[in-house]
Amino acid sequence: MAATYKTPGERIAARQRAKAAKIATQQAKSAAYYRAQAEKIRLADSKWFALEGPTPTEMAADYEHRAEGLEQKLASSGRCVRCGRALTDPKSVAGSIGPECARKGR
Ligand SMILES: [Zn+2]
Repeated sequence: MAATYKTPGERIAARQRAKAAKIATQQAKSAAYYRAQAEKIRLADSKWFALEGPTPTEMAADYEHRAEGLEQKLASSGRCVRCGRALTDPKSVAGSIGPECARKGR
């Protein structure tokens, strides 16, 4: 069922809010993805030594750096660093994580 809006501006604003929320969630997923990649690279360390280019340690550090960058971006915009949802409780804002995600752990 489609929502009804009084003005075209209202409809556009709602669409933009939905888009921003979606992007923020994707960013949070990316941070989790980067952390998972860093962990995988660390665990697979011995398999990577024959490859040319950056060392596994350097690659893992790069992924962690990217994850931190995304988390900082979310935290500074008052969003949960894990799922990207907007935080409303001052306690959640201070910790940059929502109550549901805090229970699950970072
Ligand atoms: Zn969350």
